[in-house]
Amino acid sequence: MAPQPRPGILDIAPYVGGEAHAPGVAQPIRLASNEGALGPSPRAMEAYKALAGELHRYPDGGATLLRDAIGRRYGLDPARIVCGAGSDELIALLVRAYAGPGDEVLYSRHGFLMYAICAKSVGAVPVTAPETGLKADVDQLLAHVSERTKVVFLANPNNPTGSYLTQEEVARLRAGLPKHVILAVDAAYAEYVRRNDYSAGIELVDAADNTVMLRTFSKAYALSALRLGWAYCPPGIADVLNRVRGPFNVAQAAQVAGIAAMEDIAHTEAQVELNEAVRPWFAAEVEALGLKVWPSVANFVLIDFGDRDAESARLFLKENGVLIRQMGGYGLPHCLRATIGTRAEMEAVLNGLRAWIETRR
Ligand SMILES: *Cc1c(COP(=O)(O)O)cnc(C)c1O
Repeated sequence: MAPQPRPGILDIAPYVGGEAHAPGVAQPIRLASNEGALGPSPRAMEAYKALAGELHRYPDGGATLLRDAIGRRYGLDPARIVCGAGSDELIALLVRAYAGPGDEVLYSRHGFLMYAICAKSVGAVPVTAPETGLKADVDQLLAHVSERTKVVFLANPNNPTGSYLTQEEVARLRAGLPKHVILAVDAAYAEYVRRNDYSAGIELVDAADNTVMLRTFSKAYALSALRLGWAYCPPGIADVLNRVRGPFNVAQAAQVAGIAAMEDIAHTEAQVELNEAVRPWFAAEVEALGLKVWPSVANFVLIDFGDRDAESARLFLKENGVLIRQMGGYGLPHCLRATIGTRAEMEAVLNGLRAWIETRR
């Protein structure tokens, strides 16, 4: 008898990240993981390098200076901030602390895949609520709450669809959930959103003891390699996360680079401005090719190939050194997700799509 993992674990379809390599292409254009087009802040790179002589030291287990910097930037109490090795770790810790065998973790149909993976890894059941027009549907989410629901995840904006719920809609979701159910608003792309009716959820965290906001340094702050995320929590949930997390879960290099990245406001602004300029132009150009682009407020767009073969387009682009993401794992096999890179990178995607369409005439 070989060792057996706990129930649920072998049901997990392992997470497949965005591709980073294309055969025969030394420097592919990488638009499969929603990384920042401008790269990290030069100040973050300096802070990272300056740490090289200190690699024998354990990190600050409380991430004190980093939590202070986040607190200053967003006007939050650092005592209610918990940092993690990417927001992925915080998603996993929340599920592990609040859900167990037979419990339910609820999210919307095309929500981020980590929610299901984390639920299954503790023996909980991932439950999905249908979406309307590739957008989370508050009424459907509320209709799928059961006695066993412990955590509801809402990626806002959502990856991979790019859609978002307004502040009002999220408040209505919170108000409709039982008080003992955690609402985790995963605002990984919040920095990119330029909409007056959007909120990352800070006010909902402040309003009660059952809502958490998750943020990451992997997207607009462009520090994906370092694995750094944070949660803004009610005091009780911060206390729980601090009990279950590893004592040194955030590397010191991530802490120092994170502070520098967050304080380099001009660099983040430039990243967001670039995205605001390139995304609508790119979406319009793709639509001019006869493909549908779902509306997005983040740094990626979902391209809908309808009854055309999305996978053949993806492989064609890959052969030409351009990597964008397949969406079968999200139940959207007829779509591909393209990160918004620089204008030149997006020209390469457009040229590739044009050439692919030619091959199919
Ligand atoms: C990228 C992403 C994250 C997590 O990123 P980390 O690198 O683990 O911080 C979380 N949620 C969503 C919706 C994402 O797209």
